[in-house]
Amino acid sequence: MIETYNANIRDGWEIRVEDHAEQGKLKENKNRYNHEGNYDTCRVRGCNVRLAWNSVIGRCKEHREHQNDLVLFLKRDNEEINYRPVHLSAIDALLHWADDNSISLSPLFSALSRSIIGQVQDVSILANVIEIDNVEPQSMDALFSTRFEEVNQIAADMDLDLDSELELDGHQVSLEVVIKVVTGLIVCEEANRGDRWFARELLGDAQLSTAQGGIMPITHFAVKSFDWGMELSSKLFRR
Ligand SMILES: [Zn+2]
Repeated sequence: MIETYNANIRDGWEIRVEDHAEQGKLKENKNRYNHEGNYDTCRVRGCNVRLAWNSVIGRCKEHREHQNDLVLFLKRDNEEINYRPVHLSAIDALLHWADDNSISLSPLFSALSRSIIGQVQDVSILANVIEIDNVEPQSMDALFSTRFEEVNQIAADMDLDLDSELELDGHQVSLEVVIKVVTGLIVCEEANRGDRWFARELLGDAQLSTAQGGIMPITHFAVKSFDWGMELSSKLFRR
C-alpha cells in the first residue's frame, strides 16, 4: 500500500490521496520492467513465476495489471463534503473561470506538464511492489506537496488571484483549491496509468513510453482551449 497523503489547502478544504489497492477495476500496467531481458522471473516482490523468454513487461500473467491505484478526494470539514472530483469537470471549471476573466491558463498547464509528465513513478514502483535495482519509491510529499508549492509560485508569476471564487461540482471554492485538485489529479493519472518516468529514467528514452497517463487531462485542456473551428470530443485524443 502507498501511504495516504493529506493536505489542508484553505478555507477548510482538504485534499486526500489514498491507495485503493485491489479495489475496483485494476489498471493496465504498460511499464516494460524487463525491456533489456535481464530478468527471468516476475519482478513483483515475492513472486517467483518464471517469465517467458521474450517477456519485456517483466511480469507474470497474474501481475499484468497494477495492484495499486491512487484516488484523490476533496473534503471539507471532515465528512460533510467528501468526494472524488474528476479531471474533466475540474478543468472545465478552471476554463470557465478563465474565460469569464479573460485569462489564458496555457502557462499553468504547460508548467504542470513539464513538472509532472515523466517525473512521477508508476503506482507499482511507488507501492514498492516492483523490484528494480537502484530504484527508491518517491514519497507522497515529493509527489504532491512539492507540486502544490510549485503551483503557488506559478500562480504568483501569472498574477492569478488564488482567492477568486469559482464553482466546482456545485461547491463554491477558491481558485487555489481547483488548481490543486487538477494538479493532484494529473499526478494520480501519471502514477496510475503512465510509463513515461520508467521510459525516461530507466530506458533512457521518454519516446519509448506507450501510455498517456497524465497527458490525458492536459489533452483535455488543450482540446478545450484551442480554437479548432468545430466541436471536438476529447475522446478523440484518448487511447
Ligand atoms: Zn508475478
